[in-house]
This record gives sequence, C-alpha cells and structure tokens, in this order.
Amino acid sequence: MKMHILNGGRLRMRKSVYLPEADRSETIDLPVSCVLLRHSQGNVLFDTGCHPDTVENAEGRWGAMARAMKPIAGPEDNVVSELAKLGLTPENIDVVVNSHLHSDHCGCNAFFKRASFFCHYKELEAAQGPDAVQKGYIPADWQTPMPTEAIQGERDLFGDGRLLLLPLPGHTPGTLGALATLSRDGTFLMAADAIALRDNLDREIMPRNTWDPDAAMNSLQEVKRIEKSGAKVIFGHDPVQWTELRKGEDAYE
Ligand SMILES: [Zn+2]
Repeated sequence: MKMHILNGGRLRMRKSVYLPEADRSETIDLPVSCVLLRHSQGNVLFDTGCHPDTVENAEGRWGAMARAMKPIAGPEDNVVSELAKLGLTPENIDVVVNSHLHSDHCGCNAFFKRASFFCHYKELEAAQGPDAVQKGYIPADWQTPMPTEAIQGERDLFGDGRLLLLPLPGHTPGTLGALATLSRDGTFLMAADAIALRDNLDREIMPRNTWDPDAAMNSLQEVKRIEKSGAKVIFGHDPVQWTELRKGEDAYE
C-alpha cells in the first residue's frame, strides 16, 4: 500500500485557538492535508480538504466562519488538482473517509461521485444538530447524494489490518483517526484534528475549538499510547511537520 500526502488548502487562524498562551494578535498558518492510500482493493482518500471556491470567495462558501479561518491557499492547493498531478481523477477514488465534517476536512466531498463515504455516526448527527453551521458544519460540503456509511466503533476497512479507522472523539463528537500499516515505512496514525499540532500532544494542551475537553484528553492519551507503540503521528494542522513530510508523488510505502 502506498500513501501520498496531498495539499488540501491552507488557513490562517489565531494562534491562541491552538495554544492559549499565545497573544491574541498572533496568527498561525496551517496546512490542510488529505491522504491518499492506494490499497490493492481500492483507492482511499482520508479527508478532502477545502473547496477550491474558498480561494476566491471564502465568505460565499463559509459565511462568517471565513473570518476566523481565513483561506490563504493558491488556486492549485486542493485535492482535485493534487490527484491530477498523480494522474488520477475523482473517478479513481473508491472510498472517502472523513475524519470529521468540518469544512476543511470534507470541502471537496462532492467531487467524488463514484466513492463510498465513511464517517462516524455521531459526526453525522452533529452536522445535522442545532447551530451546526456556527459549529463549522456547512451543508454544501457534507450533504452529498453519495452513500455514506456511519460507523460506530473501530473499522478495519479491507479486513486485512492495513487500514483501521479509530474513533478519537473530543475535537468533535465523531472525530476519526486512521492507522495505516505500510510494508517499508511502518505504521502511521493520521490523527486529524484529534491532535492539531505536535505541541498539543507533547504539552497536553487542549485547543479552544474543542467540543469536549475530557473526551479530547482521553483521545490524546490514546494517541500517545499509539505513538509509543512505534507509529508515526501525522497531525491535523502542524506547519512544522508539514515541511518535513514527503508529499505528492513522493510516497510512503
Ligand atoms: Zn481542521
């Protein structure tokens, strides 16, 4: 199984959202990642990043949220353009997994018309709950006609242990991580926004945009346990780690 890390956008936010000790005037530029896993039984995309329209008119797509989460991506910084660089179109994607249904993780869902979708059932509930839009759930992103399987616990996607979906709730009610075991490069945990930055994990700091801090702390301890067992953790939005990862064509395998 090959694993390609793709650029799904870029956001500018207040640094204090993630690290509460930062001054409120400080900003941080965050990568948005999507991960393509090329399993022998199908191509899986973990998260679909920001919709390309947010580059030109973020408020048109996101409303008021575009002020707190400002897209600073270029026109090519989206998962569809990134797949094209690998010679793939959205038709080549069999499965889409959404770590959660915030706009920077499911913004391009509608492009993947042939795919089956997976997310946690609590996330689907949250996206339909009261105040969902204010909480970052934009219907244009997550409401698609494609079939979605709402899972409850862990899920071994292909039944061979290579790609496991793991509930890591706390950032949102149904945040999922993915554990990928590769033959050459070892095991990777895509932690998504369960752990946004390396600092959040190491210093056990809860970001301000956490839905349930107790659940998030349990998930953080679970990620620490998985990291101790030898997996490399890929953080949801870490700009330092982003510069160090192999990306695009330069795959892990
Ligand atoms: Zn995010």
